[in-house]
Amino acid sequence: MALTLHRRAFGGLIGGLAVANGFSTAAALPRSLAGPNVVMVRFGGGVRRFETIDGQGSYAPYLSQVLVKDGTLFPHMRISPQPDVVTSHAQGTLYLLTGRYDAYRDVEGAVLRERFEPKAPTLFEYVRQAFGVPAQQTLIVNGEDRKDEDFLTYSTDRHFGVRYRSAVLSLNQFKTYLLRRQIAEGAFNGDALTTAQAKLRELEALDYRREDVGIVPELDAFWDRWREQYGSTGFKNPRGDRLLTALALRALKELRPKLLLINYQDTDYVHWGNKSHYTRAISIIDEGLKQIVEAVEADEAYRGNTVFVVVPDCGRDDNHLMAVPYQHHFGSASAHEIWALLMGPRIAKGAVVDKPVEQIAIAPTIGALMGFKAQAAEGAALAEAFA
Ligand SMILES: [Zn+2]
Repeated sequence: MALTLHRRAFGGLIGGLAVANGFSTAAALPRSLAGPNVVMVRFGGGVRRFETIDGQGSYAPYLSQVLVKDGTLFPHMRISPQPDVVTSHAQGTLYLLTGRYDAYRDVEGAVLRERFEPKAPTLFEYVRQAFGVPAQQTLIVNGEDRKDEDFLTYSTDRHFGVRYRSAVLSLNQFKTYLLRRQIAEGAFNGDALTTAQAKLRELEALDYRREDVGIVPELDAFWDRWREQYGSTGFKNPRGDRLLTALALRALKELRPKLLLINYQDTDYVHWGNKSHYTRAISIIDEGLKQIVEAVEADEAYRGNTVFVVVPDCGRDDNHLMAVPYQHHFGSASAHEIWALLMGPRIAKGAVVDKPVEQIAIAPTIGALMGFKAQAAEGAALAEAFA
């Protein structure tokens, strides 16, 4: 039954989007990507509907009052209520990227580490393989506090995998680049050089599949220009989620991504106990979202050819009796309650789809928009969004 529905949804979509010239297979030559480009905004660190899309409670005026009028809102998107489906950041990100609610554990079984390798391909891999897109044009922009998310870029699927992984922009990547450059420039001697080399090995070892892909020269050139503007201290550049906005804006200009995922995260500082950490972070993400939409609209090549997909990684608890409010690790109902907003060409404007949909529907939806089939995804595309 589920399969029939899935295929029917796809059939309708294929006709509507005129991509019936065959989906990619592992052996097929890359097709050219006509568009649209996709900018995914992980409205993240976990948020509740009330403080984001709700007309009364929202701390995100741009999202809840402006952007909703230009797109299709799914206010009842959810993460599956099955008890073994974890409501957390890396997991939610991989549900979005693979279209499946798989279970994950650290690659080396380390406790409190989340270096996950999905078995099913990520959206980056599908895009790179189908369209021959270079690494730096499928990008994740990440925060500095969750280094493990720098590696949510590829799967272990033998037809896809690390050779199709996305590139990553983060402060951690900058630090690695910088140390490598400084050593090459002769900035260290003697013991200082030995220490710097050891530190570089440590940073590079975080990326345990690095040898399989090597250095992307376009990324080094990106960081060269970043260093020219912000120097080497790390004190001049914006921090927190404002840094992610700055990196995304620069990436749009300089790297011209076809698929860009911005992993906002600072709402999660509410784990320290202050409600204002959460609500202020929502406003900062909202401002970032506005800047990125405006940058896309001001760019001739992106304007009218870019779909925005704005969606949280997970929800948060609404239990007022908790000592620390807004947790998300206990699997409560509202930790499963999220939403999604799609906006751009071929997306219905001002529509609200008032029915429950699944977070794993995002991956096949992006596939349908860009013209590839996310073949391992279990969800059906959100056909209601297509105008
Ligand atoms: Zn958290």
